[in-house]
Parts: sequence; C-alpha cells; structure tokens
Amino acid sequence: MNENNQNASLNKKKAIDDLILLHPNYDFSKSVYKGSLNKIIFYCNIHGKQSKRYTNLKNGTACILCSNEKLSKLNMLDEKKAIDDLILLHPNYDFSKSVYIDSGSKITYICPEHGLNNVFYNNLKAGKGCLSCARKLSAKNYYENKKTIIYYIKIENDFFIQYKIGVCLKKRFTSENAIKNRYHTEIKNKIKIEILDFKLYENGIEAYDLEQLIIKNNQNNLILKENMILDSGFTETFNMNVLNEFILN
Ligand SMILES: [Zn+2]
Ligand SMILES: [Zn+2]
Repeated sequence: MNENNQNASLNKKKAIDDLILLHPNYDFSKSVYKGSLNKIIFYCNIHGKQSKRYTNLKNGTACILCSNEKLSKLNMLDEKKAIDDLILLHPNYDFSKSVYIDSGSKITYICPEHGLNNVFYNNLKAGKGCLSCARKLSAKNYYENKKTIIYYIKIENDFFIQYKIGVCLKKRFTSENAIKNRYHTEIKNKIKIEILDFKLYENGIEAYDLEQLIIKNNQNNLILKENMILDSGFTETFNMNVLNEFILN
C-alpha cells in the first residue's frame, strides 16, 4: 500500500468514526465511505437498515423514523400542556374530549351550565370562558343587592303574539312603571305590551337566577331573532305562553 492509498483509507476510517461519535445509537459497522455526497448505509436498532448522504449524517440528521417519533412525542407533550393550562384556568369546564390544534385554532370543551362550546384557544388561555358564562357574571355583578323586578309580558302587534321574561332594576319607579319604562319606545311605536306577572326581589341575583331558570326550561320555545317584534331580547322571548300558571308570585 503506497502512502496515498494509506492516507485515503485513513480518511475513510475517520469519516466513519466521525459519524459514530455523532450518532452513538446507530450501527455504522457495515458502512463504507465513498465521498461526502454519496449515501452511506447504517442501521437504526429500532428501524433497521437506512441509507443517507454522508453530508446529511455529518450535519446531525440520521434515521428519519426516529426523528419523526421524537417530534410527535414533543407535539404530544405540547398538546398535553396546552390542555393542562386550560384545566388550571377553568376548573369548571370539562376538557376531557378537547383536542388541541394550535393556539390560534378553536378548541371544544363542555361548560356544565351551557354545554358544548367551541372557542379560540387563545381566548380561553386569556381567561375568557363561554359567552353565556361571561354574560352571567356581568349580570350578577349588575343586579347584586339591587332591588330588581322579574317580569313576564305579552307583546302584540298586528301579526304576532309573543311572550318575554325579563329583569330590570326598580330604581325610583313603582314596579309596573319600571317595566313600562323599559319598553317606552315600543309602547310609543304602538306595540302592545301587557304585563302578565312580575315580582320584586331585594337582591337582584335571585330575580336573575329565576329568569335564567325559566329560559333554560323553555329553550325549545325561544323565538328566532328574525321573527321578533321587539328590537332586542330574542334570548328571552318565546313564541308561545310558557308560563301558563304564573310562577313568579
Ligand atoms: Zn430509527
Ligand atoms: Zn358557560
């Protein structure tokens, strides 16, 4: 063996030794170096025989199946953490069937009170919950410890008869005037509003909770927005009389 050949075979051995150092988990015992752009055969002890360009191996990549598995494990960890964060933030919600895609995508969860919801992950992460929960919270703050009237009215125009449950603060009015004041625009526009029943509560939260209960129990009779006589309140308006026996008093 002349000196050039000897150098060449030393270089070949070094090329493989470099790979062994870089990738101790792979078997290069049958690998032969034929130039940096040529493929090298090696063995993954999990995924078996592989071949890859020498330069790519030298750059740190090896078995494609190993790196895919590593990536998906990382993604699974990310996903678990993403859901765990939500569980900490919203202990009342059920995330057991939630699937995390990414922070800008919607995620499904179950609110014990309002059922299945589908909202942006970022919003949940920012502490927001379902819209109904938020509305309820602000309503509770609004009515807490204030004299509040729950009322049930019949709304009538030339074409329809509708029924609505509602709550309003009593303020300085009599109860009946407080309700009429709430609908003064409609009354001015010749919409017939008849108060069928009302009850005054010292703490408005009781009135609010009763209203929500009545709505929940009569959800199937809630009116469609486009069929409303009134301009607002479609989440509290029914297409039939749902309180035949008045229960407010
Ligand atoms: Zn592998
Ligand atoms: Zn909710």
